[in-house]
Amino acid sequence: MLEIDCPFCGKRPEAEFWCIGEGTASIPSLDASADDLQKYLYFRTNSGGEISERWVHRHGCGEWLTVRRNTKTNAILSVTFMNDDANTRGQREDR
Ligand SMILES: [Zn+2]
Repeated sequence: MLEIDCPFCGKRPEAEFWCIGEGTASIPSLDASADDLQKYLYFRTNSGGEISERWVHRHGCGEWLTVRRNTKTNAILSVTFMNDDANTRGQREDR
């Protein structure tokens, strides 16, 4: 089982997270063609080696994360908040 180091909660078991999918796919615009939507929804690169994935800490802080992982070794290379204002999120006092 993977252990993911959530920037807000610390190291937690994979079971607390949900993998949304590859983090490299860009979200199509609202006026995108049916072909572009189909590619976004159903086609993944599924490449071996280092990839970027989107995860959500569903049984923890609820934050959306970008996880860099090597699919061949399953080693997690980095975990960051998905949004750019990530560095201020860990300092919120309302949690
Ligand atoms: Zn968390």
